[in-house]
Amino acid sequence: MKVLVVYWHPESQSFNGAMFRTACEMFAEAGHEVKTSDLHEMHFNPVSGRGNFTTVKDPNYFKQQLEELYSTEIGGFSAEIASEMEKIEWCDLMIWQFPLWWFGLPAVLKGWVDRVFAMGRIYGGGQIYAGGVFRGKRALLSLTTGGPEEAYRKGAFNGDIAGILRPIHRGMLQFVGFDILAPQIVYGPVRMTDEQRKQQLTTYAERLQRIAHESPIDVGIY
Ligand SMILES: Cc1cc2nc3c(=O)[nH]c(=O)nc-3n(C[C@H](O)[C@H](O)[C@H](O)COP(=O)(O)OP(=O)(O)OC[C@H]3O[C@@H](n4cnc5c(N)ncnc54)[C@H](O)[C@@H]3O)c2cc1C
Repeated sequence: MKVLVVYWHPESQSFNGAMFRTACEMFAEAGHEVKTSDLHEMHFNPVSGRGNFTTVKDPNYFKQQLEELYSTEIGGFSAEIASEMEKIEWCDLMIWQFPLWWFGLPAVLKGWVDRVFAMGRIYGGGQIYAGGVFRGKRALLSLTTGGPEEAYRKGAFNGDIAGILRPIHRGMLQFVGFDILAPQIVYGPVRMTDEQRKQQLTTYAERLQRIAHESPIDVGIY
């Protein structure tokens, strides 16, 4: 299996960092091919704009999706964007490792999506959802929260975690064709004992060993 792990956390010694390394080491030891995008380490610029491209269709008015279509035609994506696109095209399984920030992706990871999921090459022309460019590939969100699990149930004060993740599952990953695996969520690692955190890492590694055999989940559509 070819696995891409996209990861962002501002501190490599964080629990997210430990989850990232757990996944990379487990897949490598099991003989899978692994590529990574450690966005903090890469100093990935999350701000979308003309820097996404090496060329210009319209120098007078910046319309991102039109520039994306043009760059798809002529191979005009900047090197940092093109290499991220190639990694996604290469992988069978893509994992995003991140802390939940403001009920969503932290800004650098969101900016990675804004810049890399480009119209033309990654979606569009009728290629969306079940007919998406990345159909046949699978995606896994692996995240941590500050809040406890009981705060993320239906009717609890944060609401259902499935609803919080739906814009990512449906609006980003399924939109471009990925099948979605059940998210790996570690609730409140800060409040755990060291032993409990180590157990979470072991549980995650054990799950990843069997992940090739997992079936996608239904993320629900309103
Ligand atoms: C801007 C912002 C917005 C936020 N929004 C939300 C929100 O909407 N909802 C919400 O629930 N939370 C929110 N949070 C909280 C955030 O989600 C959590 O702080 C984060 O998920 C915790 O993960 P971490 O990797 O940062 O933990 P860390 O604090 O880095 O790690 C927790 C502990 O694990 C230890 N550790 C590291 N490696 C290992 C290892 N190998 N073995 C054992 N222990 C280890 C660390 O030393 C530390 O003691 C927000 C935080 C910020 C800053």
